[in-house]
Parts: sequence; structure tokens; C-alpha cells
Amino acid sequence: MTAISHNLDQIRQRITLAAQRCGRDPSEITLLAVSKTKPASAIAEAALAGQQCFGENYVQEAVDKITVLKNPALIWHFIGPLQSNKSRLVAENFAWLHTLDRLKLATRLNEQRPEHLDALNVLIQVNISDENSKSGIMLKDISGLALQIAKLPRLRLRGLMAIPAPESDYQRQLAVCQQMSEAFVLLRADHPSVDTLSLGMSDDMEAAIAAGSTMVRIGTAIFGARNFA
Ligand SMILES: *Cc1c(COP(=O)(O)O)cnc(C)c1O
Repeated sequence: MTAISHNLDQIRQRITLAAQRCGRDPSEITLLAVSKTKPASAIAEAALAGQQCFGENYVQEAVDKITVLKNPALIWHFIGPLQSNKSRLVAENFAWLHTLDRLKLATRLNEQRPEHLDALNVLIQVNISDENSKSGIMLKDISGLALQIAKLPRLRLRGLMAIPAPESDYQRQLAVCQQMSEAFVLLRADHPSVDTLSLGMSDDMEAAIAAGSTMVRIGTAIFGARNFA
């Protein structure tokens, strides 16, 4: 067993335990393996261990790896901030975007999504607790943006994503995650295509799952620390 497949097993066990503790079916929760800065070989190793969904943050780096791996079984999620001038590469190479936060970007992606691909799955990013972050919209603005996105035929609105500010206290993590979960339930009532709440990283995964997350994003605990040198 390689280090990556061992780590994947451990994370899957953590997800299963967290789900069971709150009476949820673990199969409701998708593990997104965040592979930014990691080589294609590490992704191939995770894929061999049964991992299907991968999250990337940097457009060109991701497209290089997608091109090298050429594995149609893998499902690519773009989870980094997206500048409008890079939208075409996301529209052409990814199945999902987690960081949609403005109509202008949605309109571009809708125009750029190639006909031979299914509609691009999108999540609206919500700025839930980090006032310093410029990414994401406020809770009160979700329904307006969602209505606009729902009119774009080459996008499919799947739900919400957030990156809560780091917080070590479980109860405070849970409170923030529950705010996201309430917004998710409201959005789902208006849009039948909505089924995904992308919430929870290594340090708040248990709270996110308790609140109702359907997708957790884990990098370091699978692939090891990132080296930015
Ligand atoms: C990097 C990243 C992750 C994973 O972070 P780790 O600390 O490596 O587990 C999850 N979500 C987003 C949006 C990220 O950018």
C-alpha cells in the first residue's frame, strides 16, 4: 500500500465515522482530493486507489495535468479564484467550478462551455465568515445570483461552497457550517438541480459533515504538505 492510498483510506474512515456519528449515510458525502501543486503522478496514484474527484486551484497547472493524465474517468473540479480572462480554460477542461461569485463570470462560462460537453456544474461561493477575503458573495445575495445562473443553459447550478475562516473550537465551526447549511436548504427549495454543499477541509470536516456538507475538500492529509519552493 502506498502512502497516498493509505491516506485516502484514513480520510474515508474519518468521513464514515463523522457521518455515522450524526446519523447520516456516508455515501452522501463525496471526497474531493485537492491536488494543487502535486504532480500528475500523485494524482495517478490516487486514481489507482479509487479516487475519482480532484480539485485544482491554478488554471494552467491543472490543464497541464489534465492533458498529461488523459483519464476520462477522472472528474475535475476548479476550486481556486477564477479571473475572467482564464474562464475559457475552465469551461473547456473542467466538470465543476466551486467559486462562482459574479454574473459576468457566469455569462462568460455559459458562452464558452463547448457543445460536446455536459453543462458545467457550478457552485456559488459564499463569504461566510472571513471578512478579509474578497472571494464569495454575502448570504443575502445568493438567491438573486442563483436566479440569473439558472437561466444559463450551459451551466448547471448544483449548490454552494464556502471556505470558513480558520477556527479551532468545534461548536463555533459548527455554528458557521450550520449557517451555510440553512442557506443550502433554502436554495434547494427553489432550484431542483441543487444537491451539493461543498464545505469542510481537514480541520473542520467533522463539523461540516454534522451540519450537512455533501462534499469535503482535502489536500494535505492525502498528498502531504505542499512545497511552494
Ligand atoms: C487547498 C484547498 C483545500 C485543501 O486544503 P488542505 O489544507 O491541503 O487540506 C480545500 N479547499 C480549497 C478551496 C483549497 O484551496
